[in-house]
Amino acid sequence: MPPSSPILKVAVPTPLRRSFDYLVGQSIIPAIGARVRVPFGRQQLVGVVIDHIAESTTPSNKLKPILETIDDQPLLPAHLFKLLLWASDYYLHPVGDVFNTCLPGLLNKGEPAILEPEYYWQLTEEGEQAFSNLGKNAVKQHKILNWALQHQGVISPEHLNQLELIPSELKPLTEKGWLIKKQIELSAKPYTQSNQPLALNPEQHDAVSAMQQSIGQFHGFLLDGVTGSGKTEVYLQLIEQVLIKKQQVLVLVPEIGLTPQTVQRFQRRFNCDIAMLHSGLTDRQRLNIWLKAKQGLTSIVIGTRSALFTPFSDLGLIVVDEEHDVSYKQQDGFRYSARDLAILRARDEQAPIVLGSATPSMESVHNVNQGKLTHLTLRKRAADAKPPHIKVLDIRQRHLENGLSQALLDNMKRHLENGNQCLVFLNRRGFAPSLMCHGCGWIADCQRCDKHMTLHLQQKRLHCHHCDKQVFMPKKCPECGEPELFPIGLGTERLEQALIKAFPNKTVVRIDRDSTRRKQAMQDYVTAIKNNEVDILVGTQMLAKGHHFPNLTMVAVVDIDGCLFSADFRATERTAQLLTQVAGRAGRADKPGEVVIQTHHPEHPLLLNLFTQDYQSLSQQILSERQAGQLPPYTSMALFRAEASTLQYPMEFLNEVSKQLGQVPGLDCFGPFPAPMAKRAGKMRAQLLCQAEQRGLIQRAIKPVISIIEQLPSARKVRWSIDIDPQDP
Ligand code: ADP
Ligand code: ZN
Ligand code: ZN
Repeated sequence: MPPSSPILKVAVPTPLRRSFDYLVGQSIIPAIGARVRVPFGRQQLVGVVIDHIAESTTPSNKLKPILETIDDQPLLPAHLFKLLLWASDYYLHPVGDVFNTCLPGLLNKGEPAILEPEYYWQLTEEGEQAFSNLGKNAVKQHKILNWALQHQGVISPEHLNQLELIPSELKPLTEKGWLIKKQIELSAKPYTQSNQPLALNPEQHDAVSAMQQSIGQFHGFLLDGVTGSGKTEVYLQLIEQVLIKKQQVLVLVPEIGLTPQTVQRFQRRFNCDIAMLHSGLTDRQRLNIWLKAKQGLTSIVIGTRSALFTPFSDLGLIVVDEEHDVSYKQQDGFRYSARDLAILRARDEQAPIVLGSATPSMESVHNVNQGKLTHLTLRKRAADAKPPHIKVLDIRQRHLENGLSQALLDNMKRHLENGNQCLVFLNRRGFAPSLMCHGCGWIADCQRCDKHMTLHLQQKRLHCHHCDKQVFMPKKCPECGEPELFPIGLGTERLEQALIKAFPNKTVVRIDRDSTRRKQAMQDYVTAIKNNEVDILVGTQMLAKGHHFPNLTMVAVVDIDGCLFSADFRATERTAQLLTQVAGRAGRADKPGEVVIQTHHPEHPLLLNLFTQDYQSLSQQILSERQAGQLPPYTSMALFRAEASTLQYPMEFLNEVSKQLGQVPGLDCFGPFPAPMAKRAGKMRAQLLCQAEQRGLIQRAIKPVISIIEQLPSARKVRWSIDIDPQDP
């Protein structure tokens, strides 16, 4: 065979942890990193060439030629390509599925990697006149023209998504001359200048200048700044320095933090192309952003976890905001940590990276202790706001009405009477966590999970939050026929009703996953809160994160006791983060804030430590406990999970996995055990925990036997996965 025709190692999207070899055949030789279409069994799949090799271990009569070369050059920049291969190796995840997860959907389908023109629509004078004369029945036209009038006469592709319209629905209006369709310029809009940066306080100034010196090289920073200390302002001013050098910036934000405000703040500041990757985009929009960033036409990309895989022509900085947030770890399929991979990416691409948080993860604090990250602190709130005053309210033997003590209500009253807002925090949505029969004690359990079903009274439904099963609320007990069923426990919906009753003249809004299902809903609530149209906010952790409400002066934490006693070794860290973040919502502007925490355990060390010291000293304490207990980040973990219709199969499979791993020195296997919630969505689940003192040992132990594990007969009876660095073992 002439040397010009190599054998191709191709990453094909299959569940197997290997690549597949193909011949070039009649096609032009695809570059390493190019997509190819290949025959796979009876299907045709799109894969990525990951190597050229001279010889294959597959017998030559079994090798098939590829069907087509899709890209005439590598699809990904070399650094990113390497990162994905590394990630497949580290997370022990099938390489084909890694590409499949990380590439935009259209590229996985084999669409050409070509930027397609995008359009926007401009309102004409005729359109404006037509709007006032529209008949009653022209509902859609009214909606479209009204939108344009409210948005400086423009309907952008983003707006179309928000209006839930497709382009062809605007055609009747362009034909009438009411709108004009125009192409969006694809050329780069270079950074020119920023608008009104704030004058930095000394701590912010020191942080920016320390990081600025690392532009153009790799350096990891932990920006550890209390809530409201002006971290975002620090990012913005650092980003400006990177833009001046004509480099690009990637900003990762948690799922929930991707509110329009974040983006507006960037757009107001910088006059350049800023792309926002979020779940509301069409496949085409997603691909266009991907291509524009790759070609250097976009200067800033802001997005959640998966935005990490955006290619850049010249990446100059990565910001990971709220780096402790659990949403950076993908919990199914390719279970990567975007924060951890971001550090690797920054190192590969010679760019600085900033991990920002008011409550850094133990992993990052540990990295600071080890000198791997440079610690920058903002201890003072920006704009002279004072830290909130914290009061632990002992509710032992006090009367509680719907979970609320009189002392808490009195406290709220004081703040409300001064015209301020209160936030009442409870991390449990629905009306009540369960429904019970007064006649026989029957409890509404989920038949598919080891859990009760949550009562949603407004919708008159029982809903399992673990498998999503929903049924109508029964009118009488299914066991004994008793009509008197009563809710047990407290959810946000019940709390909302109780607060409306307690403060009949005040406006109460509830913010949780149920009340914000509608697109725009969160945005509308946030606007109403900022405009002071709301007095009391009731909600879950959705309210704990990132928001800045200047009139909010009191935060009430209603029920934290459940979080204080948990078997999960990360519970202390998570509870400390949650409490600190929620508390941080109080008193963010010139008004002093107060936090009141109701508890039956006022002497609990976590509560004492958190509020007599600060998060920083508490985190050192948590770390020494982790070290003593030989737990992450001092050790590495991997979790094998398996599920089937009966517990026997996952236990059998995991037992064999454990045998395969054998006696590797330095590696400990625990289990298999039934999972903490053994039954979920009708499946029985078990897990096997592997722990090693040395990073990388887990991979070295599992890799040699992975294909044996994949082919175990018992593997066929279960669904199984490996989770490296699991967040919830
Ligand atoms: P964080 O991201 O740490 O929560 P933000 O950057 O949102 O904090 O800042 C909190 C508030 O303080 C915002 O209203 C912001 O405009 C204001 N702020 C930040 N830095 C300054 C500064 N140097 N001078 C005045 N106000 C500031
Ligand atoms: Zn009953
Ligand atoms: Zn369920």
